[in-house]
Amino acid sequence: MAGRRIDRCRLASFAALRTVEPPLDDLVGRVVRGVERRGKFVCMEADGLWLVAHLARGGWVRWHDVLPATALKTGRSPIALRVGLDDGAGFDVTEMGREKRLALWVVRSPEEVGPLAGLGVDPLDPAFTVDRLAELLASTSATVKHALTTQSLIAGVGNAYSDEALHRAGLSPYKGAGRLGRDEVARLHDGLVGVLSEALDRVAGVELTELKGDKWRAMAVHGRTGQKCPTCGDTIREVSFATKSLQYCPTCQTGGRTLADRRMSKLLK
Ligand SMILES: [Zn+2]
Repeated sequence: MAGRRIDRCRLASFAALRTVEPPLDDLVGRVVRGVERRGKFVCMEADGLWLVAHLARGGWVRWHDVLPATALKTGRSPIALRVGLDDGAGFDVTEMGREKRLALWVVRSPEEVGPLAGLGVDPLDPAFTVDRLAELLASTSATVKHALTTQSLIAGVGNAYSDEALHRAGLSPYKGAGRLGRDEVARLHDGLVGVLSEALDRVAGVELTELKGDKWRAMAVHGRTGQKCPTCGDTIREVSFATKSLQYCPTCQTGGRTLADRRMSKLLK
């Protein structure tokens, strides 16, 4: 997109836009300087103004070489925002599903977006070393699963890739983050950087419609409750919470022990 001028912006989901000043239309006429990712935020700069998007769980950015001419129906379409460029190309920011959590900001600097300003280190940044990870984990009394998904410590890791990283490192999700030994931290570092780099390599050039399926097929434990662990053949277990669940392999990660499932214990009582 760099070097192309923004010709039009059409907001179809008013709830998604979290800022009023500067107005969205201030982007029109500006030339895109570049796009970058920070944690789970996508940031586009156009002549000193930034459009920042957090795609949440059901959000996508879809590129069009030729932007469709069809009119957008406010509140009726998955398309939340359409941006057209001066050469006829453009992109839609969409959100599938009922859970409307997609968020957009127009700001003069990405740091004005509160949750983005507080982001921790990106695991694919060279600054994310074993020492740095050890420091971050030592700073919290949370479980390692919780620490990995805390955006102010480590940016961009969610439920799925934290499950995968812990499985690869052979660590229990319930282990205290601050109680990991040096070799465990090193394994976790390798696991996390490994699963994320492989995921990035895999999705390059994959069609939008294939992307989600492709992501799930590559998972070793996440979303695979009841299936066989690809490493040891044990049955993958899960622990359920109110709105999500984590998966793990007892043989690879917990010395064969099954972790207490709070929902299940409640039922048994
Ligand atoms: Zn296993």
